[in-house]
Amino acid sequence: MAATLIARGGSAAARALTFGCLRQLHTVYQTVELPETHQMLCQTCRDFAEKELVPIAAQLDKEHRFPDEQVKKMGALGLLAMDVPEEYKGTGLDYLAYSIAVEEISRGCASTGVIMSVNNSLYLGPILKFGSEEQKHQWIAPFTSGDKIGCFALSEPGNGSDAGAASTVARLDGNEWVLNGTKAWTTNAWDASAVVVFATTDKSQKHKGISAFLVPMPTAGLSLGKKEDKLGIRASSTANLIFEDCRIPKANLLGQQGMGFKIAMQTLDSGRIGIASQALGIAQGALDCAVDYAEKRLAFGSPISKLQAIQFKLADMALALESARLLTWRAAMLKDNGKPYTKEAAMAKLAASEAATAISHQAIQILGGMGYVTEMPAERHYRDARITEIYEGTSEIQRLVIAGQLLKEYRG
Ligand SMILES: Cc1cc2nc3c(=O)[nH]c(=O)nc-3n(C[C@H](O)[C@H](O)[C@H](O)COP(=O)(O)OP(=O)(O)OC[C@H]3O[C@@H](n4cnc5c(N)ncnc54)[C@H](O)[C@@H]3O)c2cc1C
Repeated sequence: MAATLIARGGSAAARALTFGCLRQLHTVYQTVELPETHQMLCQTCRDFAEKELVPIAAQLDKEHRFPDEQVKKMGALGLLAMDVPEEYKGTGLDYLAYSIAVEEISRGCASTGVIMSVNNSLYLGPILKFGSEEQKHQWIAPFTSGDKIGCFALSEPGNGSDAGAASTVARLDGNEWVLNGTKAWTTNAWDASAVVVFATTDKSQKHKGISAFLVPMPTAGLSLGKKEDKLGIRASSTANLIFEDCRIPKANLLGQQGMGFKIAMQTLDSGRIGIASQALGIAQGALDCAVDYAEKRLAFGSPISKLQAIQFKLADMALALESARLLTWRAAMLKDNGKPYTKEAAMAKLAASEAATAISHQAIQILGGMGYVTEMPAERHYRDARITEIYEGTSEIQRLVIAGQLLKEYRG
Protein backbone atom coordinates (compact mmCIF):
# COMPACT_ATOMS: atom_id res chain seq x y z
CA MET A 1 0.00 0.00 0.00
CA ALA A 2 1.51 3.29 -1.01
CA ALA A 3 2.10 5.63 1.87
CA THR A 4 1.14 8.76 -0.02
CA LEU A 5 -2.53 9.45 -0.40
CA ILE A 6 -2.38 12.72 -2.21
CA ALA A 7 0.82 14.21 -3.52
CA ARG A 8 0.85 17.70 -2.07
CA GLY A 9 1.20 20.50 -4.56
CA GLY A 10 1.38 18.07 -7.48
CA SER A 11 -0.89 18.01 -10.49
CA ALA A 12 -4.32 16.40 -10.26
CA ALA A 13 -3.04 13.45 -12.30
CA ALA A 14 -0.03 12.94 -10.04
CA ARG A 15 -2.28 13.09 -7.02
CA ALA A 16 -4.30 10.18 -8.25
CA LEU A 17 -1.34 7.92 -8.97
CA THR A 18 0.06 7.07 -5.61
CA PHE A 19 -2.86 5.41 -3.85
CA GLY A 20 -1.47 1.93 -4.23
CA CYS A 21 -3.33 -1.22 -5.11
CA LEU A 22 -7.06 -1.37 -4.52
CA ARG A 23 -8.49 -3.89 -2.15
CA GLN A 24 -12.13 -4.88 -2.11
CA LEU A 25 -14.22 -1.82 -1.32
CA HIS A 26 -17.28 -1.94 0.82
CA THR A 27 -20.25 -3.14 -1.22
CA VAL A 28 -22.07 0.18 -1.15
CA TYR A 29 -19.22 1.85 -2.96
CA GLN A 30 -19.51 -0.71 -5.72
CA THR A 31 -23.22 -0.11 -6.19
CA VAL A 32 -22.75 3.55 -7.12
CA GLU A 33 -20.12 4.06 -9.79
CA LEU A 34 -17.71 6.50 -8.16
CA PRO A 35 -14.85 8.04 -10.12
CA GLU A 36 -11.65 6.03 -9.72
CA THR A 37 -9.95 8.82 -7.77
CA HIS A 38 -12.77 8.73 -5.21
CA GLN A 39 -12.65 4.94 -4.94
CA MET A 40 -8.91 5.04 -4.32
CA LEU A 41 -9.30 7.87 -1.83
CA CYS A 42 -11.94 5.83 -0.01
CA GLN A 43 -9.71 2.78 0.18
CA THR A 44 -6.72 4.74 1.38
CA CYS A 45 -8.73 6.54 4.07
CA ARG A 46 -10.18 3.21 5.14
CA ASP A 47 -6.71 1.68 5.39
CA PHE A 48 -5.49 4.70 7.34
CA ALA A 49 -8.45 4.47 9.73
CA GLU A 50 -7.97 0.71 10.23
CA LYS A 51 -4.25 1.06 10.91
CA GLU A 52 -4.01 4.39 12.71
CA LEU A 53 -7.39 5.05 14.34
CA VAL A 54 -9.30 1.84 15.09
CA PRO A 55 -6.59 0.48 17.43
CA ILE A 56 -6.50 3.64 19.57
CA ALA A 57 -10.02 5.12 19.30
CA ALA A 58 -11.25 3.60 22.58
CA GLN A 59 -8.16 4.81 24.44
CA LEU A 60 -8.41 8.33 22.98
CA ASP A 61 -12.05 8.38 24.05
CA LYS A 62 -11.27 7.17 27.55
CA GLU A 63 -8.43 9.65 28.07
CA HIS A 64 -10.10 12.57 26.25
CA ARG A 65 -6.84 12.73 24.28
CA PHE A 66 -6.42 14.76 21.09
CA PRO A 67 -4.94 12.52 18.34
CA ASP A 68 -2.01 14.81 17.66
CA GLU A 69 0.17 12.35 15.74
CA GLN A 70 -2.72 11.07 13.62
CA VAL A 71 -3.89 14.60 12.75
CA LYS A 72 -0.38 15.42 11.51
CA LYS A 73 -0.38 12.26 9.39
CA MET A 74 -3.78 13.21 7.99
CA GLY A 75 -2.36 16.63 7.14
CA ALA A 76 0.50 14.96 5.28
CA LEU A 77 -2.05 12.86 3.38
CA GLY A 78 -3.93 15.98 2.32
CA LEU A 79 -7.05 15.30 4.40
CA LEU A 80 -7.18 18.59 6.30
CA ALA A 81 -7.70 20.96 3.38
CA MET A 82 -9.40 18.76 0.86
CA ASP A 83 -11.21 21.25 -1.36
CA VAL A 84 -8.66 24.03 -0.94
CA PRO A 85 -6.83 24.79 -4.22
CA GLU A 86 -3.18 23.84 -4.45
CA GLU A 87 -2.10 27.52 -4.64
CA TYR A 88 -3.02 27.78 -0.95
CA LYS A 89 -1.36 24.42 -0.18
CA GLY A 90 -4.63 22.50 -0.26
CA THR A 91 -5.41 19.20 -1.94
CA GLY A 92 -7.70 20.51 -4.67
CA LEU A 93 -10.28 17.73 -4.55
CA ASP A 94 -14.07 18.15 -4.45
CA TYR A 95 -16.73 17.88 -1.74
CA LEU A 96 -17.73 14.35 -2.73
CA ALA A 97 -14.15 13.32 -2.01
CA TYR A 98 -14.30 15.21 1.28
CA SER A 99 -17.54 13.45 2.27
CA ILE A 100 -16.08 10.04 1.53
CA ALA A 101 -12.91 10.82 3.48
CA VAL A 102 -14.77 12.16 6.55
CA GLU A 103 -16.96 9.04 6.57
CA GLU A 104 -14.00 6.67 6.45
CA ILE A 105 -12.06 8.55 9.14
CA SER A 106 -15.17 8.74 11.36
CA ARG A 107 -15.76 5.03 10.93
CA GLY A 108 -12.43 4.58 12.69
CA CYS A 109 -12.76 7.45 15.18
CA ALA A 110 -15.63 9.93 15.21
CA SER A 111 -13.63 12.43 17.29
CA THR A 112 -10.95 12.55 14.62
CA GLY A 113 -13.75 12.90 12.07
CA VAL A 114 -15.08 16.06 13.67
CA ILE A 115 -11.59 17.53 14.14
CA MET A 116 -11.08 17.04 10.40
CA SER A 117 -14.55 18.33 9.52
CA VAL A 118 -14.21 21.52 11.57
CA ASN A 119 -10.82 22.37 10.04
CA ASN A 120 -12.00 21.70 6.48
CA SER A 121 -15.57 23.05 6.52
CA LEU A 122 -15.93 25.49 9.37
CA TYR A 123 -12.49 27.08 9.55
CA LEU A 124 -10.96 26.92 6.05
CA GLY A 125 -14.31 27.00 4.22
CA PRO A 126 -15.36 30.59 5.05
CA ILE A 127 -11.85 31.96 4.56
CA LEU A 128 -11.64 30.34 1.15
CA LYS A 129 -15.02 31.73 0.15
CA PHE A 130 -15.00 35.17 1.75
CA GLY A 131 -11.33 35.95 2.51
CA SER A 132 -9.15 38.44 0.62
CA GLU A 133 -6.17 37.08 -1.30
CA GLU A 134 -3.86 38.16 1.51
CA GLN A 135 -6.06 36.51 4.15
CA LYS A 136 -6.14 33.26 2.18
CA HIS A 137 -2.36 33.06 2.11
CA GLN A 138 -2.01 34.02 5.77
CA TRP A 139 -4.86 32.03 7.32
CA ILE A 140 -5.24 29.00 5.05
CA ALA A 141 -1.80 27.75 4.00
CA PRO A 142 -0.42 27.11 7.54
CA PHE A 143 -3.61 25.17 8.40
CA THR A 144 -3.37 22.51 5.71
CA SER A 145 -0.55 20.31 7.00
CA GLY A 146 -1.88 19.30 10.41
CA ASP A 147 0.69 21.43 12.26
CA LYS A 148 -2.02 23.97 12.97
CA ILE A 149 -5.78 23.53 13.04
CA GLY A 150 -8.58 26.04 13.24
CA CYS A 151 -11.96 26.40 14.91
CA PHE A 152 -15.28 28.23 14.44
CA ALA A 153 -17.05 30.18 17.16
CA LEU A 154 -20.67 31.05 16.47
CA SER A 155 -22.66 29.64 19.42
CA GLU A 156 -22.83 31.46 22.73
CA PRO A 157 -23.96 30.41 26.22
CA GLY A 158 -27.22 32.33 25.65
CA ASN A 159 -27.91 31.31 22.06
CA GLY A 160 -27.17 28.34 19.81
CA SER A 161 -30.01 27.71 17.38
CA ASP A 162 -30.82 31.42 17.46
CA ALA A 163 -27.36 32.34 16.18
CA GLY A 164 -28.52 35.78 15.01
CA ALA A 165 -28.87 36.85 18.64
CA ALA A 166 -25.09 37.06 19.18
CA SER A 167 -24.16 39.16 22.21
CA THR A 168 -20.38 39.08 21.70
CA VAL A 169 -19.43 42.53 20.45
CA ALA A 170 -16.64 43.94 18.29
CA ARG A 171 -15.85 47.67 18.38
CA LEU A 172 -13.47 49.50 16.07
CA ASP A 173 -10.81 51.45 17.95
CA GLY A 174 -8.36 53.13 15.54
CA ASN A 175 -6.71 50.36 13.56
CA GLU A 176 -7.95 47.56 15.80
CA TRP A 177 -11.14 45.65 16.53
CA VAL A 178 -11.79 45.10 20.24
CA LEU A 179 -13.77 41.93 21.03
CA ASN A 180 -15.75 41.28 24.20
CA GLY A 181 -18.04 38.37 25.07
CA THR A 182 -18.13 34.61 25.41
CA LYS A 183 -18.45 32.01 22.68
CA ALA A 184 -19.62 28.52 23.71
CA TRP A 185 -19.02 24.93 22.66
CA THR A 186 -16.09 25.64 20.34
CA THR A 187 -14.83 22.36 18.85
CA ASN A 188 -11.00 22.13 18.65
CA ALA A 189 -10.73 25.12 21.04
CA TRP A 190 -7.87 23.72 23.13
CA ASP A 191 -5.90 22.53 20.12
CA ALA A 192 -6.50 25.36 17.66
CA SER A 193 -4.16 28.08 16.42
CA ALA A 194 -6.88 30.35 15.01
CA VAL A 195 -10.62 30.90 15.15
CA VAL A 196 -13.25 32.34 12.84
CA VAL A 197 -15.38 34.22 15.35
CA PHE A 198 -18.71 35.99 14.94
CA ALA A 199 -19.49 39.19 16.85
CA THR A 200 -21.98 41.98 16.51
CA THR A 201 -20.66 45.28 15.21
CA ASP A 202 -24.08 46.94 15.16
CA LYS A 203 -26.68 45.63 17.61
CA SER A 204 -29.49 47.73 16.11
CA GLN A 205 -29.18 45.73 12.87
CA LYS A 206 -29.78 42.41 14.71
CA HIS A 207 -28.41 39.50 12.61
CA LYS A 208 -27.44 41.93 9.84
CA GLY A 209 -25.12 43.64 12.32
CA ILE A 210 -22.98 40.52 12.86
CA SER A 211 -19.46 40.40 11.39
CA ALA A 212 -16.84 37.65 11.13
CA PHE A 213 -13.26 37.98 12.35
CA LEU A 214 -10.03 36.01 12.18
CA VAL A 215 -8.34 35.71 15.55
CA PRO A 216 -4.99 33.99 16.21
CA MET A 217 -4.79 31.62 19.17
CA PRO A 218 -3.41 32.17 21.71
CA THR A 219 -3.70 35.93 21.80
CA ALA A 220 -3.94 38.56 24.54
CA GLY A 221 -7.49 39.05 25.80
CA LEU A 222 -8.66 35.59 24.71
CA SER A 223 -8.87 32.80 27.27
CA LEU A 224 -10.27 29.28 27.13
CA GLY A 225 -12.97 27.83 29.35
CA LYS A 226 -12.68 24.34 30.83
CA LYS A 227 -12.72 21.36 28.47
CA GLU A 228 -16.32 20.14 28.39
CA ASP A 229 -16.77 16.60 29.77
CA LYS A 230 -18.84 15.16 26.96
CA LEU A 231 -20.98 12.08 26.30
CA GLY A 232 -19.17 11.32 23.04
CA ILE A 233 -16.51 12.59 20.61
CA ARG A 234 -14.39 12.83 23.72
CA ALA A 235 -11.02 12.99 21.96
CA SER A 236 -11.95 16.36 20.44
CA SER A 237 -11.79 19.37 22.74
CA THR A 238 -14.84 21.58 23.25
CA ALA A 239 -14.68 24.79 25.28
CA ASN A 240 -15.84 28.37 25.72
CA LEU A 241 -13.76 31.19 24.23
CA ILE A 242 -13.75 34.23 26.51
CA PHE A 243 -12.92 37.57 24.89
CA GLU A 244 -11.97 40.40 27.26
CA ASP A 245 -10.81 43.51 25.39
CA CYS A 246 -9.19 41.23 22.86
CA ARG A 247 -7.52 43.43 20.22
CA ILE A 248 -6.98 42.27 16.67
CA PRO A 249 -5.87 44.23 13.58
CA LYS A 250 -8.58 45.97 11.54
CA ALA A 251 -7.50 43.80 8.58
CA ASN A 252 -8.76 40.67 10.40
CA LEU A 253 -12.38 41.38 9.44
CA LEU A 254 -13.50 38.49 7.20
CA GLY A 255 -15.70 39.65 4.32
CA GLN A 256 -17.56 42.94 4.74
CA GLN A 257 -18.85 44.40 8.00
CA GLY A 258 -22.37 43.06 8.63
CA MET A 259 -21.83 39.97 6.46
CA GLY A 260 -21.14 37.65 9.39
CA PHE A 261 -24.54 35.97 9.59
CA LYS A 262 -24.52 35.21 5.87
CA ILE A 263 -20.97 33.83 6.17
CA ALA A 264 -22.03 31.65 9.11
CA MET A 265 -25.14 30.28 7.39
CA GLN A 266 -23.33 29.49 4.13
CA THR A 267 -20.51 27.87 6.08
CA LEU A 268 -23.00 25.69 7.95
CA ASP A 269 -24.58 24.54 4.67
CA SER A 270 -21.23 22.99 3.72
CA GLY A 271 -20.45 21.95 7.28
CA ARG A 272 -23.64 19.90 7.40
CA ILE A 273 -22.32 17.72 4.57
CA GLY A 274 -19.27 17.07 6.77
CA ILE A 275 -21.39 16.18 9.81
CA ALA A 276 -23.67 13.99 7.70
CA SER A 277 -20.53 12.18 6.56
CA GLN A 278 -19.30 11.84 10.13
CA ALA A 279 -22.67 10.32 11.05
CA LEU A 280 -22.41 7.88 8.12
CA GLY A 281 -19.02 6.75 9.38
CA ILE A 282 -20.34 6.18 12.90
CA ALA A 283 -23.36 4.30 11.51
CA GLN A 284 -21.20 2.14 9.22
CA GLY A 285 -18.90 1.30 12.12
CA ALA A 286 -21.89 0.27 14.24
CA LEU A 287 -23.43 -1.81 11.44
CA ASP A 288 -20.12 -3.55 10.68
CA CYS A 289 -19.75 -4.39 14.34
CA ALA A 290 -23.32 -5.73 14.54
CA VAL A 291 -23.02 -7.90 11.41
CA ASP A 292 -19.72 -9.37 12.53
CA TYR A 293 -21.08 -10.15 15.98
CA ALA A 294 -24.32 -11.62 14.63
CA GLU A 295 -22.36 -14.02 12.43
CA LYS A 296 -20.17 -15.20 15.31
CA ARG A 297 -22.49 -15.23 18.32
CA LEU A 298 -24.25 -18.53 18.91
CA ALA A 299 -27.62 -18.76 20.65
CA PHE A 300 -29.82 -21.84 20.80
CA GLY A 301 -27.20 -23.71 18.77
CA SER A 302 -26.76 -21.40 15.77
CA PRO A 303 -25.46 -17.91 14.88
CA ILE A 304 -27.93 -15.18 15.82
CA SER A 305 -27.61 -13.89 12.22
CA LYS A 306 -29.89 -16.81 11.29
CA LEU A 307 -32.72 -15.34 13.40
CA GLN A 308 -35.23 -13.36 11.40
CA ALA A 309 -35.59 -10.86 14.24
CA ILE A 310 -31.89 -10.03 13.90
CA GLN A 311 -32.01 -10.03 10.10
CA PHE A 312 -34.87 -7.51 10.11
CA LYS A 313 -32.84 -5.22 12.33
CA LEU A 314 -29.79 -5.53 10.03
CA ALA A 315 -31.94 -4.84 6.97
CA ASP A 316 -33.43 -1.69 8.50
CA MET A 317 -30.00 -0.50 9.60
CA ALA A 318 -28.50 -0.99 6.12
CA LEU A 319 -31.50 0.70 4.50
CA ALA A 320 -31.28 3.79 6.72
CA LEU A 321 -27.53 4.03 6.22
CA GLU A 322 -27.47 3.65 2.47
CA SER A 323 -30.40 6.07 1.97
CA ALA A 324 -28.61 8.67 4.08
CA ARG A 325 -25.37 8.12 2.16
CA LEU A 326 -27.10 8.78 -1.14
CA LEU A 327 -28.61 11.99 0.25
CA THR A 328 -25.20 13.06 1.49
CA TRP A 329 -23.46 12.38 -1.79
CA ARG A 330 -26.24 14.21 -3.64
CA ALA A 331 -25.72 17.31 -1.48
CA ALA A 332 -21.94 17.11 -2.02
CA MET A 333 -22.35 16.74 -5.78
CA LEU A 334 -24.76 19.69 -5.96
CA LYS A 335 -22.17 21.81 -4.17
CA ASP A 336 -19.44 20.54 -6.50
CA ASN A 337 -21.59 21.48 -9.50
CA GLY A 338 -22.26 25.00 -8.19
CA LYS A 339 -25.99 24.31 -7.66
CA PRO A 340 -28.02 25.37 -4.58
CA TYR A 341 -27.75 22.76 -1.85
CA THR A 342 -29.07 24.29 1.40
CA LYS A 343 -32.14 22.03 1.54
CA GLU A 344 -30.23 18.94 0.40
CA ALA A 345 -27.44 19.46 2.95
CA ALA A 346 -30.05 19.80 5.72
CA MET A 347 -31.80 16.63 4.49
CA ALA A 348 -28.49 14.76 4.42
CA LYS A 349 -27.54 15.86 7.91
CA LEU A 350 -30.99 15.09 9.31
CA ALA A 351 -31.20 11.66 7.69
CA ALA A 352 -27.61 10.63 8.45
CA SER A 353 -27.63 11.80 12.07
CA GLU A 354 -30.96 10.13 12.87
CA ALA A 355 -29.76 7.00 11.07
CA ALA A 356 -26.54 6.99 13.13
CA THR A 357 -28.51 7.24 16.37
CA ALA A 358 -30.95 4.50 15.37
CA ILE A 359 -28.30 2.17 13.93
CA SER A 360 -25.93 2.46 16.88
CA HIS A 361 -28.90 1.89 19.21
CA GLN A 362 -29.78 -1.34 17.38
CA ALA A 363 -26.13 -2.41 17.20
CA ILE A 364 -26.05 -2.46 21.00
CA GLN A 365 -29.23 -4.54 21.00
CA ILE A 366 -27.70 -7.08 18.62
CA LEU A 367 -24.59 -7.36 20.77
CA GLY A 368 -26.67 -7.86 23.91
CA GLY A 369 -24.54 -7.44 27.05
CA MET A 370 -21.38 -7.04 24.98
CA GLY A 371 -22.96 -3.97 23.41
CA TYR A 372 -23.04 -2.28 26.79
CA VAL A 373 -19.36 -2.50 27.72
CA THR A 374 -16.28 -0.68 26.47
CA GLU A 375 -14.56 -3.86 25.25
CA MET A 376 -16.62 -3.52 22.09
CA PRO A 377 -16.94 -0.28 20.06
CA ALA A 378 -20.76 -0.35 19.91
CA GLU A 379 -21.29 1.74 23.05
CA ARG A 380 -18.80 4.37 21.78
CA HIS A 381 -20.60 4.56 18.42
CA TYR A 382 -23.85 5.07 20.35
CA ARG A 383 -22.37 7.90 22.42
CA ASP A 384 -20.62 9.48 19.41
CA ALA A 385 -23.73 9.35 17.23
CA ARG A 386 -25.83 11.55 19.51
CA ILE A 387 -23.96 14.79 18.89
CA THR A 388 -24.59 14.63 15.14
CA GLU A 389 -28.24 15.43 15.87
CA ILE A 390 -27.23 18.54 17.80
CA TYR A 391 -24.27 20.46 16.38
CA GLU A 392 -24.27 22.51 13.19
CA GLY A 393 -28.03 22.81 13.66
CA THR A 394 -30.22 20.47 15.67
CA SER A 395 -32.61 18.07 13.94
CA GLU A 396 -35.41 20.54 14.66
CA ILE A 397 -33.47 23.30 12.90
CA GLN A 398 -32.77 21.01 9.91
CA ARG A 399 -36.53 20.42 9.59
CA LEU A 400 -37.13 24.17 9.69
CA VAL A 401 -34.50 24.70 6.97
CA ILE A 402 -35.97 21.94 4.78
CA ALA A 403 -39.54 23.20 5.17
CA GLY A 404 -38.45 26.80 4.62
CA GLN A 405 -36.66 25.94 1.37
CA LEU A 406 -39.51 23.69 0.23
CA LEU A 407 -42.10 26.43 0.72
CA LYS A 408 -39.83 28.97 -0.96
CA GLU A 409 -39.56 26.68 -4.01
CA TYR A 410 -43.34 26.17 -4.02
CA ARG A 411 -44.12 29.87 -3.77
CA GLY A 412 -41.52 30.66 -6.47
C1 LIG B 1 -19.92 18.86 21.46
C2 LIG B 1 -20.40 20.13 20.83
C3 LIG B 1 -19.59 20.76 19.90
C4 LIG B 1 -20.01 21.96 19.32
N1 LIG B 1 -19.18 22.62 18.45
C5 LIG B 1 -19.49 23.89 18.05
C6 LIG B 1 -18.56 24.69 17.32
O1 LIG B 1 -17.44 24.25 16.98
N2 LIG B 1 -18.89 25.96 17.03
C7 LIG B 1 -20.09 26.50 17.38
O2 LIG B 1 -20.33 27.67 17.07
N3 LIG B 1 -21.01 25.76 18.06
C8 LIG B 1 -20.73 24.48 18.41
N4 LIG B 1 -21.64 23.73 19.13
C9 LIG B 1 -22.92 24.32 19.50
C10 LIG B 1 -24.09 23.69 18.77
O3 LIG B 1 -24.10 24.08 17.43
C11 LIG B 1 -25.36 24.07 19.53
O4 LIG B 1 -25.34 23.36 20.75
C12 LIG B 1 -26.63 23.80 18.75
O5 LIG B 1 -26.72 24.64 17.64
C13 LIG B 1 -27.86 23.94 19.60
O6 LIG B 1 -27.85 25.14 20.30
P1 LIG B 1 -28.15 25.15 21.89
O7 LIG B 1 -27.29 24.14 22.51
O8 LIG B 1 -28.01 26.56 22.35
O9 LIG B 1 -29.62 24.68 22.01
P2 LIG B 1 -30.94 25.62 21.90
O10 LIG B 1 -30.82 26.50 20.72
O11 LIG B 1 -31.16 26.27 23.22
O12 LIG B 1 -32.05 24.54 21.63
C14 LIG B 1 -32.59 23.72 22.67
C15 LIG B 1 -33.69 22.85 22.07
O13 LIG B 1 -34.71 23.70 21.49
C16 LIG B 1 -34.89 23.38 20.12
N5 LIG B 1 -35.17 24.59 19.36
C17 LIG B 1 -34.53 25.80 19.42
N6 LIG B 1 -35.08 26.65 18.56
C18 LIG B 1 -36.07 25.98 17.92
C19 LIG B 1 -36.99 26.34 16.91
N7 LIG B 1 -37.01 27.56 16.37
N8 LIG B 1 -37.90 25.41 16.52
C20 LIG B 1 -37.90 24.15 17.05
N9 LIG B 1 -37.02 23.77 18.02
C21 LIG B 1 -36.13 24.67 18.44
C22 LIG B 1 -33.56 22.77 19.68
O14 LIG B 1 -33.70 21.98 18.52
C23 LIG B 1 -33.18 21.99 20.91
O15 LIG B 1 -33.88 20.75 20.89
C24 LIG B 1 -21.26 22.50 19.66
C25 LIG B 1 -22.08 21.84 20.60
C26 LIG B 1 -21.66 20.68 21.18
C27 LIG B 1 -22.53 20.03 22.21
